[in-house]
Amino acid sequence: MDVPPHVVILPFPAVGHIKPMLMLAEHLSLAGLTISFVNNEQSHQLIRRRSPGINFLSIPDGLPPDHPRSGPSIVDLLISTSTACKPIFKHLIASMTHAPTCVIADGIMSFSIDVAVELGIPAIAFRTYSATSTWTYFHLQNLIQEGEIPVVAGTESEELERQVRCIPGLEKILRRRDLPSICRLDPHNQILQFFINQASKMRNASALILNTFDSLEAPFISRLHSIFPTVYAIGPLRSPAQHDSPTPLQIDKSYIQWLDSQPSRSVLYVSFGSVATLSRDELVEFWHGLVNSEIPFLWAIRPDLIDNGSGAVPDDLRSKRGRIVGWAPQEEILAHDAVGGFLTHCGWNSILESVWAGKPMICRPLVAEQQVNGRCVSEVWGLGLDMNRLSDRSVVEKVARDLMEGEKERISRSTARMAHDARDSISEGGASYENLHKLISDIKILHSK
Ligand code: UDP
Repeated sequence: MDVPPHVVILPFPAVGHIKPMLMLAEHLSLAGLTISFVNNEQSHQLIRRRSPGINFLSIPDGLPPDHPRSGPSIVDLLISTSTACKPIFKHLIASMTHAPTCVIADGIMSFSIDVAVELGIPAIAFRTYSATSTWTYFHLQNLIQEGEIPVVAGTESEELERQVRCIPGLEKILRRRDLPSICRLDPHNQILQFFINQASKMRNASALILNTFDSLEAPFISRLHSIFPTVYAIGPLRSPAQHDSPTPLQIDKSYIQWLDSQPSRSVLYVSFGSVATLSRDELVEFWHGLVNSEIPFLWAIRPDLIDNGSGAVPDDLRSKRGRIVGWAPQEEILAHDAVGGFLTHCGWNSILESVWAGKPMICRPLVAEQQVNGRCVSEVWGLGLDMNRLSDRSVVEKVARDLMEGEKERISRSTARMAHDARDSISEGGASYENLHKLISDIKILHSK
């Protein structure tokens, strides 16, 4: 019997990267390909979903076992994976008895693209950001050359409002305040340089995979063709298996009864994702703003959401209208009929999940590329409202009311249309469906060579 193609998939070890890459792994596995899914040891233990047909492997990430690997210290993980993992990954790949047909490498784990090239194995990059953000990251060096970086914190607001001119296609969209958070760093900063370096090495991949779709991002998917001969836009990825998502924490289902008792589209769901943190003061401002808005809300508060280890949610924050959960089954919540809006940090998975559920968003980006995503949601796609990076209680109160009352009808029409387009795109004959099947057939062709 013929040996099937063997694809080695390596995500960066954080939920927002593992989740979409695991969904892709499941699709490839269903198509009959053999998949090796490589994680660091900590994420390997956390993945509860053990899809049959996928071979889960782990390598050390170079950090001590007790390192938190979350919140602001995720930066250590970026640096350590890029320096410690290469020889171990190379040894793993070189010693596989079933020789890999190709490596699908997270765009910020580009040492694995180097490894593949060194071993003569084709490498495909999977950037788990939006196409627009990916395009922006390819222009970090230009931003430095044009003096747009650093965006100095506290710069006069006129400066922050100025359009960024050196990223083709984004001249009328991005203001300096919308640039990724690393653009506030000194140009020589190690993290900014890390991302420049990753973007540059990613160019050695033969193709690029993106979790996005044409109705959202056709212009930037198309621009990325100027860097990669082939771009597979295959989103929004959905798991073909009906299992729970990979979660770092026990899922908290205490909210369900309460949500079931709320009127249709009345509740605002609030989450800042799996990594980003808030100061205690910001959290308190959000809380008062939400309570004052009198909109019922459900807030997913991870134990490490408050930064600097300043502890759990203050006890005095209790409300008849609000509910707190720990790690929420986000997709299930967004799909619930009682949920009418999503106050989000604009992580790319969260945006796609909200789009899928047809729920309008309030954008409060915190770090990384979230600013770019937030700008697109509010200004380009018309799927939500932007908080302009403010967290005062009066702003939270107003924007919550605007989304759930004043602007509800207008934005809901756009979100319903986009949810429809998302389904079309991954249904048979849709662009993302076709791209996913082209990826599968291209891997089969590589295997036959
Ligand atoms: N998530 C979840 N429950 C939570 C918080 C987050 O299921 O309480 C999931 C969410 O559905 C999303 C992922 O974690 O798929 C977070 O990814 P995203 O890109 O939105 O943000 P990141 O965590 O990478 O900043």
